[in-house]
Amino acid sequence: MTDNLARERLQKLAGFFANNPSIQYVTPTSPQYAELCAAYVSLPDLNPLAIARPSTVEAAASVVSFVVTNDIPFTVRSGGHDSFGRFFRNGAVAVDLRLINYVKIDQESSTARIGGGILGGDMIRALQKHGLAAAVGTISSVGYAGWAMYGGYGPYSSKFGLGVDQILAAKVINAKGELVDADAELLRAVRGAGGAFGVVAELTIPVHRLDQTLAGAIAFQSDDLPAVIRQYNSGYQALSAEGIPAELTLQQSIINLPHGKTLVVLFVWASPDIKTGQLWAEKICALAPVAHNAIQPTTPLTYLTDTDRMVPSHTRGRVRTISLKRLSDEVLDVISANVLKMPADPHTLFAMHELRTGTPSAQAHSDSVFAAREGHFVFEIIGNAQREENLDRATAWGQDFWNELTRTDAENVLPATYLSLSAPEEVQMSRVFGEKYAWLVDMKGKYDPRGVFAAATARF
Ligand SMILES: Cc1cc2nc3c(=O)[nH]c(=O)nc-3n(C[C@H](O)[C@H](O)[C@H](O)COP(=O)(O)OP(=O)(O)OC[C@H]3O[C@@H](n4cnc5c(N)ncnc54)[C@H](O)[C@@H]3O)c2cc1C
Repeated sequence: MTDNLARERLQKLAGFFANNPSIQYVTPTSPQYAELCAAYVSLPDLNPLAIARPSTVEAAASVVSFVVTNDIPFTVRSGGHDSFGRFFRNGAVAVDLRLINYVKIDQESSTARIGGGILGGDMIRALQKHGLAAAVGTISSVGYAGWAMYGGYGPYSSKFGLGVDQILAAKVINAKGELVDADAELLRAVRGAGGAFGVVAELTIPVHRLDQTLAGAIAFQSDDLPAVIRQYNSGYQALSAEGIPAELTLQQSIINLPHGKTLVVLFVWASPDIKTGQLWAEKICALAPVAHNAIQPTTPLTYLTDTDRMVPSHTRGRVRTISLKRLSDEVLDVISANVLKMPADPHTLFAMHELRTGTPSAQAHSDSVFAAREGHFVFEIIGNAQREENLDRATAWGQDFWNELTRTDAENVLPATYLSLSAPEEVQMSRVFGEKYAWLVDMKGKYDPRGVFAAATARF
């Protein structure tokens, strides 16, 4: 973009925001600009033309209407956790939704209407005041809509389902800048391909009475990491075959602790029946020798904030992902070999989400375009680094690990890789959406013929 074009656009924007003083407007010369550009992964080369911060859905719609009418490119930003910066573009206005963060509970229908920019932790905090909880991601600073629209795995995946299946209704700002209630067709597209069809201004989601859970991290003795990975997983597979209650969701990870690489399993029992949860905690702890067990009766909010402490608030690097149907011996060998080579940086790690067969989201949902519906594991190979000197090694490690996984049994690899963690230049939308892809291309032509939502994570 030329300097002249940028100046011309900034002039138009200044006029609009002068007439709409209730909407915060931040330009590169504003003192808050750097702070508002901060995101989970440091991407210093991404600098939006300006940042608009509407605090109501109506104000967000008027911003979108203004920019589309004036052919000014824009992006949408909430929690800023996309590793590939799909929330900003150079020369584009960023519509930062974080001030649209309300939670309106309807006790009668056990649902809540939540603002499109709310972060998962703020939502859980608001719900907990009423003894309620909802499906959410693993850490609190991830934006709820960004998490839910493209999949949404987390500590309640087995009990409540994935984020994408929480979307009961949505208010969407369409390609003309109009605020509309999504009809069944638009909702189906939003459930999986979200931002490609509009700005999600509000979601209605189910909420559940859950003021107590049993949850925490188990660190297994990991002096012989390949052996403990194998032992834990063969025991876990045997338990899975017998049947694990939906209340239990487990997330495996290999992280760098001060004393070395360690298999850590996050245990979440989503039920106030703590006694039964304790029996399951004992079964999981019996799968391999335990070094430290932090499982305790807790609340959804406390558990979330405890987990936050395991994750840095900012980092640099990149994530790689692959979704596999089973943790076969071949796959476990690749994991073992590669976690041994993992650079010893506190931000470098490997983690997995599981969509367990038989749980609510692991079945066909005709009213959603999210395609990964059979039981599977989402691998998160996190080639991030705290220390600059480890960055190249961490990203190269992630690349090698991922390459090796792609060479394992092709039948075991899910074509529908997890879009949120996939690099835009590497992901094929036709594989992600499978048989729903052609329908989505038609819908894109219908709902966004000019491609005003071109920066979205899902692209058609
Ligand atoms: C530390 C960390 C932990 C994570 N944990 C999990 C996890 O447990 N489970 C999981 O499934 N995923 C997880 N993710 C991935 C995360 O869910 C996605 O990257 C998600 O898209 C981030 O949403 P955000 O609002 O925080 O980020 P942003 O970068 O602000 O948004 C991500 C994308 O969604 C778009 N978007 C955001 N809000 C809206 C909206 N209201 N309307 C339209 N478009 C919107 C943005 O334009 C962008 O394209 C994690 C990522 C990180 C970095």
